[in-house]
Amino acid sequence: MIYPDSAPRVLVIDDSPDIHKLLDVRLRGEGLALLHATDPVVGLRLAREAPPDLILLDMDMANTNGLSVCRALKEDLTTAAVPVIFLSAIAGIYDKVAGFDAGAVDYIVKPFDPAELRARVRAALRTKRYQDMLALRALLDAVTGLRNRTYFEARLTDELAAVRRYARNVCLIMVDLDHFKAVNDTYGHPFGDRVLQRVGGVIEGTLRTTDAPCRYGGEEFALLLPETDHAQGLLTAERVRAAIAATGIDRGNEVVHVTASLGLASTDTFADPTRLSAATLVQASDAAMYRAKRQGRNRVVADDGDLPAPAAAS
Ligand SMILES: [Mg+2]
Repeated sequence: MIYPDSAPRVLVIDDSPDIHKLLDVRLRGEGLALLHATDPVVGLRLAREAPPDLILLDMDMANTNGLSVCRALKEDLTTAAVPVIFLSAIAGIYDKVAGFDAGAVDYIVKPFDPAELRARVRAALRTKRYQDMLALRALLDAVTGLRNRTYFEARLTDELAAVRRYARNVCLIMVDLDHFKAVNDTYGHPFGDRVLQRVGGVIEGTLRTTDAPCRYGGEEFALLLPETDHAQGLLTAERVRAAIAATGIDRGNEVVHVTASLGLASTDTFADPTRLSAATLVQASDAAMYRAKRQGRNRVVADDGDLPAPAAAS
């Protein structure tokens, strides 16, 4: 999880309450949100619930060796990327090596010099921020700045898991620009990219912040709308269609207009949404989108699911 605008969250796991108080004082003014655990089990739970940006981990705790806590963090996918700095009273070379081998990025010997502590914490957070940026960029589409296909597929899987577990709805809208090949052929690919950027921006501006607009590929966008049923999805799809059709893209002395065909499928129109696969939902919305193309483009068509009357399903 990435919290770009909030204070970096630093979790301190140390069995000595005095160390917590000392770190509170020493790191004051660094703009950090400190979280505290004197029990390693509690520390591990906190880290898993909401992975922090950095963990300061005591090497020598009453019942637990810090090394095993570090290994547990590194073996868990949700916490594996969180950098760990060991705090230890032992300055021996073997202990340091064991700390790094357990997956830590740094090792600070108690009693620590305040300036050195702060510099090491800043350095670890700097690296973490770059890693977060790269991880985020790997899920972004370079042309539109929307989420990419990789993100879409992972998110759809997550949303369908929520449908199964919490009986939620999710709606998928496929958006395909009409006659986009002609845009590229007439005006060139750089202008085609500008059209995709503008349409991506228009789509994003029309949706809620909790929705996930993604570039599916080529001139196709996939919009994931969590907790949205068939009727709400239809309203949103129509808003998106109208917003795209109303957008003019400036090209020097002329304004180019594009339209889109939209296909919608929502889990609440299926008799058993808990058995619905990602592929089925994608196919259903894609087929509806192609029906919109055949019916004349610049329109919304919804998949009927497998229930007789979709409106009665909710
Ligand atoms: Mg200790």
